[in-house]
Amino acid sequence: MYIIFLGAPGAGKGTQAATLARELNLVHIASGDLFRQALEQETELGIQAKSYMEKGMLVPDEITIRMVLERLSTPDCESGAILDGFPRNLKQAETLDQALVQQAKAIDKVVYIKVSDKELLRRLSERWVCPSCQAPYHTTDSPPRVRGRCDRCDSELQKRPDDTAEAIKKRLEVYFAQTAPLIDYYCQTGKLLEVDGEGSVDEVRRRVVSALHHGELAYPRL
Ligand code: ADP
Ligand code: ZN
Repeated sequence: MYIIFLGAPGAGKGTQAATLARELNLVHIASGDLFRQALEQETELGIQAKSYMEKGMLVPDEITIRMVLERLSTPDCESGAILDGFPRNLKQAETLDQALVQQAKAIDKVVYIKVSDKELLRRLSERWVCPSCQAPYHTTDSPPRVRGRCDRCDSELQKRPDDTAEAIKKRLEVYFAQTAPLIDYYCQTGKLLEVDGEGSVDEVRRRVVSALHHGELAYPRL
């Protein structure tokens, strides 16, 4: 089972994708996390991606596609995966479709999490993340139990370097120009499920589960 989470930066894709992956026992592949890990480990990939990420630009397709397809080809993804942050433009979506077809696989559903621009800005500008386990926090919506520390692993929370006003603006621009057209692309294949992304994390989670239930697939474990 292959599910894509689609939505703007700040829509809550990462949070929902991680939860669903746990519930369905599928691998969660977040392209942004893969890049951030590579950056932290100072690998060649990290060095290549750094300047693009800091500016809020897309990392070139060649690099991104290779990284995600490599991750998808490992044995733990054999029975499926949840993709979050990829594909982010038409070229990536088409390449992914082709790669899956070659393995007699296909995307099952695309969950599009819809959030207003105003809410996206509010969320991104007050976002904090755990550098060790990637858990996200928000100053007022979902503060950590102890100020500045991760609930799960006690690491010191950080601002993402691309959560500056300037980079946020760029990421949203890139999203509307390049990623939003994928809504149509997947709608045409009948795979798109639109979910209202405003409200609490749990409200959105329930909407995601119910959208998947009402989709044609059977999700026995949910
Ligand atoms: P967000 O969705 O909050 O913008 P991500 O963590 O998904 O953040 O991605 C962070 C950055 O990593 C992006 O701004 C971009 O530079 C890079 N990136 C992630 N996924 C892709 C992708 N599919 N194609 C190109 N660049 C990507
Ligand atoms: Zn943590």
